Amino acid sequence: MVDKKCYWCEKEAVSMEHVPPRCLFPEDKDVKHIFNKTYREHLITVPSCDEHNLQKSNLDEYLMVTLSGKVGNNGLAYIQTLTKIERSRKRNSKLLDIEKGETIYIKDKEFPVLWVNVDTQKLNYSFESIARGLYYHENNTSFKGRITIVSKLFNHPDDSNGTEFNIRASKLIESERMHWNTEVKGTNKEVFSYQFSPIDGFKTQTLALNFFEGIDIYIILNELTDKDYEEAKLKLSFLNKAFLGDLQLNANHRDKQ
Ligand SMILES: [Zn+2]
Repeated sequence: MVDKKCYWCEKEAVSMEHVPPRCLFPEDKDVKHIFNKTYREHLITVPSCDEHNLQKSNLDEYLMVTLSGKVGNNGLAYIQTLTKIERSRKRNSKLLDIEKGETIYIKDKEFPVLWVNVDTQKLNYSFESIARGLYYHENNTSFKGRITIVSKLFNHPDDSNGTEFNIRASKLIESERMHWNTEVKGTNKEVFSYQFSPIDGFKTQTLALNFFEGIDIYIILNELTDKDYEEAKLKLSFLNKAFLGDLQLNANHRDKQ
């Protein structure tokens, strides 16, 4: 693609990629007759190189399957698990690492659920990619600082530190978020919406991602220089340390490219 640079690494782009991945959005054939609505219009796209295209690595499908199946999502996600995810699992039986299947009851209704061992690293890579894509979409340039992912979801029971960090940081961000005066964006909010916080004095901004009205993921984007970062670290509270990615217990930290 002439003159287009990758949303992540700024190499020459070879395709346009959907952010978040298109497969997350239900297909008309599965949901239109139920909700009388289409969910695949006005999706966001960004230019991408080969390496940073999630679709190529099948990470997009893994993300779709793990997110849609989460208990607590809206009805749309539930339909998605009964239709699209079943098809994906038929195509690739190893897609999910299923521990056990069981039925839960809510108000006497039966709901089949799967207990799944989730690959947090794969998911975090997807969340990072979505954050970088949205950053590019908003700013027309790639993000060059540090990224920390905060999520109460899918923490491994053996990873007690990571779980504690994520719960603590999520709570702090949730209380901060009430004061964000920025717009919640997304043309298909039942599937996906996002909100960037204002940028604070530490050149830090938090991005909130919401999936299926049930899952919140926070991405902390920090653009301090290495020198400023070392100085700032000495004076900071837990909150800011978390924001600066110092407590990277469950985070995907990458050096500048
Ligand atoms: Zn790239």
